[in-house]
Amino acid sequence: MKFGGTSVGDAECIRRAADIVVRTARERPVVVVVSAMSGVTNRLVAAAQAATTGQPNVASELSASLREQHTAAAKVLVANQDHQSALVNDLERIINEVASLCQGISLLRELTPRAHATVSSIGERLSARLMTATLGELDLSSRAVEATDVIVTDDQYLQAEPLMKDVRQRAQAVLQPLLEEGVTPVVTGFIGATVDGVLTTLGRGGSDYSATTLGAALDADEIVIWTDVDGVLTADPRLVPTARLLREISYNEAAELAYFGAKVLHPKTLRPVVESKIPVWIRNSFAPENLGTRITAVGHPTEHGVRAITAIPNVSMITIGGRGIVGVVGVAAKTFQAVASVRANVLLISQSSSENDICLIVESADAPATLKALRAAFAADLVHHDVEHITVNADIAIVAVVGEKMRGTPGIAGRTFSALGRSGINIIAIAQGSSEYNVSFVVDAKSMRDAVAVVHDEFKLHEVSSPAQNALHDQG
Ligand code: ADP
Ligand code: ASP
Ligand code: MG
Repeated sequence: MKFGGTSVGDAECIRRAADIVVRTARERPVVVVVSAMSGVTNRLVAAAQAATTGQPNVASELSASLREQHTAAAKVLVANQDHQSALVNDLERIINEVASLCQGISLLRELTPRAHATVSSIGERLSARLMTATLGELDLSSRAVEATDVIVTDDQYLQAEPLMKDVRQRAQAVLQPLLEEGVTPVVTGFIGATVDGVLTTLGRGGSDYSATTLGAALDADEIVIWTDVDGVLTADPRLVPTARLLREISYNEAAELAYFGAKVLHPKTLRPVVESKIPVWIRNSFAPENLGTRITAVGHPTEHGVRAITAIPNVSMITIGGRGIVGVVGVAAKTFQAVASVRANVLLISQSSSENDICLIVESADAPATLKALRAAFAADLVHHDVEHITVNADIAIVAVVGEKMRGTPGIAGRTFSALGRSGINIIAIAQGSSEYNVSFVVDAKSMRDAVAVVHDEFKLHEVSSPAQNALHDQG
């Protein structure tokens, strides 16, 4: 069971989450994975960055705010005075660690990826202690486990990839014995470590990935991701208030939604479970009586195929254009080599021969480095005017229409684009993967919200869809 930031956001939430754990753990073994309390990781990252400018009060302000939030929760959650002071001391030790780290960063005025990972991991280390103590308070035997002892990863410190064979071995060695003794392990989400024990993180929002990685390593019966919405909805409820809960979707659909910006799941969440077919539930920790969404190998496809609409803001489109682009072998290869050299993640690619251009979309944070690498790679072509321009548009968003059964259902792209046309929304670029699980397109950032709403409406996603979904609902 993984609890996200809002699900452990304050004492009351931690208590609610702990109640869920206790109820389940009475019936069968549970491994708990926790995120940092909401807002904490953002504050840690901001502090690490501020420290590089040499600002004097960063460390003390950060430790004061961490202390306030976590110690306050500890005092509410743990009544036993001895247990409470042991917990507060433990929290204090970790807070002092991050304060020293920030001081070090201020002195060096440099933030290495390793230091960045270590600072940003502090939130999970604190929340795991709070959760463990709360479970103890509820008479459940539990132990805080550092993911650095279990989740072995490569050395991409801020986007680490778990090494599944090693993780499996460690999980069997570290977690399995606890489970057999009736102890509930509480593992820090988001964090891993290289084979040499250097701390890494799995990328922002990565606790979902921690949960499925551990679930797969332990051959879990199921994985439950507890969050602050009822499950996976037909759209982000913040964009489309009429978005409806999807009772069951497939791994492919969930992965596609996550990839195209549905924040409810980290993009890599489903990877570890595809082979073992372990079901993953997304449920609301604030309304545990609701069933949530079940993600399985088959899902419950609807007839018209479209399941959900999603959007990615904060992306930039880079266009490489010129008459030399058409029919020249190797332009695409050169482009993607340049992009890969700065490790930018390409979210969408579109090439048009009539417009003589290739456009690709990357996260806006990656755009300056990508642009620089492309200008260097095409320096000679720019001089010879084979490539006439390389430009960036940062005012855009990607919208994606997702569904497994879209494959082989004609007319979905047509309906999507007609609906957008009728609403006067201009489409800047279009892409469809050959998997046909999605059609994605690029619009002006300011049209993103309307585009999602218009397509959601066109496919009537606010209406309860197939009888199969209802039957599933009724079965409970
Ligand atoms: P957690 O802290 O539990 O990991 P996140 O904030 O990362 O939670 O993800 C949950 C949020 O994802 C929801 O509050 C919701 O606004 C957003 N979201 C985006 N797209 C969807 C979607 N299709 N279905 C459900 N939630 C979505
Ligand atoms: N706390 C981390 C983050 O905010 C990981 C997570 O919540 O999944 O990115
Ligand atoms: Mg999340």
